[in-house]
Amino acid sequence: MFANALEKEIVETVAAATVEALGPGAEPDAIPALLTELVAVAEGILEHQAPPERPLDCRSGCNHCCRAPVEVTAPEVLALAAALLKRPKGLADLVEAEPRCPLLDRDGLCAVYDSRPFFCRASNSMDVAACQRGADVPIWPAWWSVHRHVQGGLLFGIAELGREADRLDLRPAIAIALSEPRAAERWLAGERLFESALLPSGTRWLNILQGR
Ligand code: SF4
Repeated sequence: MFANALEKEIVETVAAATVEALGPGAEPDAIPALLTELVAVAEGILEHQAPPERPLDCRSGCNHCCRAPVEVTAPEVLALAAALLKRPKGLADLVEAEPRCPLLDRDGLCAVYDSRPFFCRASNSMDVAACQRGADVPIWPAWWSVHRHVQGGLLFGIAELGREADRLDLRPAIAIALSEPRAAERWLAGERLFESALLPSGTRWLNILQGR
């Protein structure tokens, strides 16, 4: 089920933290607080990994990887919606133009960079020219794996709580989170809000959940 002991440990640790943070009685503020905690968990693990073969080529303003579908979980989408609504500019400077992510602003920057999903955090490249070509991008595998397994642990945790534990497509999911009144409260109460934003089944995280 897991490629190594670290992957298993990450998923189990994150799932336990998720169950503790988002269990019965959790308030909406618990969602971004948990995600902040999980970002620190990922960064702490990466400090102990062997460095990449060569420096990462990722830079502020580079957004080649913001043109592919983004896989998110419900807590991440709800935290993104909360972050967007707290921005002084709100949604005013965002650009809706596929295939760009709808959370890129007019300057090509992520409007919610500090709250970006783990899928986006996992993305990395050692060669921006390969990103421009859109093929054979050399990545730091540890960076990708740690963030993706943190996201997997989130799914395990919310499945344990009996909540909506599916992989979602960011584009329709963020529209739902922003348009549904009291989305975070309702999701925490067990309502399935994101049915129309599901990604196709049969992917790795669903397989892991189904194989428990
Ligand atoms: S959420 Fe931010 S980092 Fe992720 S794809 Fe969208 S703009 Fe890029």
